[in-house]
Amino acid sequence: ATPTSIMVGTGKAAEMGVLFRRGDALQTLRDTTVVAFDKTGTLTKGKPELTDLEIVNEPTHALTQKQILGFIATVENVSEHPIASAIVAAAKAQDINLPDIKDFQAHAGFGISAVVMDQAGTSRQVWVGADRLMEQQGIPVAEHEHTTASWATAGKTPLYAAIDGTLVALLAVSDPIKESSRTAIQALQEEGLRVAMITGDNTRTAQAIAQQLGIDDVIAEVLPGGKVDAVKTLQQTYGHVAFVGDGINDAPALAQADTGIAIGTGTDVAIESADVVLMSGDVRNVTNAIALSRATLRNIK
Ligand code: ADP
Ligand code: MG
Repeated sequence: ATPTSIMVGTGKAAEMGVLFRRGDALQTLRDTTVVAFDKTGTLTKGKPELTDLEIVNEPTHALTQKQILGFIATVENVSEHPIASAIVAAAKAQDINLPDIKDFQAHAGFGISAVVMDQAGTSRQVWVGADRLMEQQGIPVAEHEHTTASWATAGKTPLYAAIDGTLVALLAVSDPIKESSRTAIQALQEEGLRVAMITGDNTRTAQAIAQQLGIDDVIAEVLPGGKVDAVKTLQQTYGHVAFVGDGINDAPALAQADTGIAIGTGTDVAIESADVVLMSGDVRNVTNAIALSRATLRNIK
């Protein structure tokens, strides 16, 4: 490519809100064979809502639904995960006040825990997270599989809450898919590209979302740090990978990909690790950017 054609290409890209942070990104983009997307905040809005809350084992704990939501939201109030805002908002909508907590811990890829003081002044150990968090704590969840699997099949993320070693609630949060996601994925496939999704979310939930979007490959329940390996696997299987993500935990995968594409509304860490930045959250610009790279570099080897 002549310097002039590259300048024209990146100039056109800037007009549609696609920023090239690295000069050779036009070339790596053109050679893309698979586009892998992060799920939460990239294909979905990243603004989940609490849709279900089912109390279990009531005879053991004798807590009301409101008390349990209070315990859970008190711990989530300290977390920065999108799931946390969904649960805190639900508690605030019921005028539940959220006291201070002790010993908060985020178990990356699993969930969270903390010690919360109840109304009688007793310390209660609260755990909230995925099935694998409960399994790790020796709290069986299999008997509730029927309920949580039906939520997951509907594309919701199932969660569990335990207090002092007893499972007390099943929850589901739902994060709406962006209007632009389906069109973007179809357009990529029409251009002959393969589309994958990489997420830390529940496998069944991820598969439900992937099916709605027509995604070819799903890599789910990926632990933080595992996204890099997922990108490597795609590179070994299919060739040049463009990875699209927004989160702090997407940064290593953005760096590993042949082209890292960050969502401009995402975290600074993601943007700094990316070769290309989409100024809006509109993922159709991934397709536009690839088409532009092909048009600009059509005659170049
Ligand atoms: P992702 O970015 O794809 O959501 P994470 O590694 O952040 O992946 O989270 C993976 C899973 O860990 C979530 O789907 C959820 O089950 C659990 N989890 C993480 N943070 C929280 C939290 N604050 N509250 C409840 N569950 C959580
Ligand atoms: Mg994300």
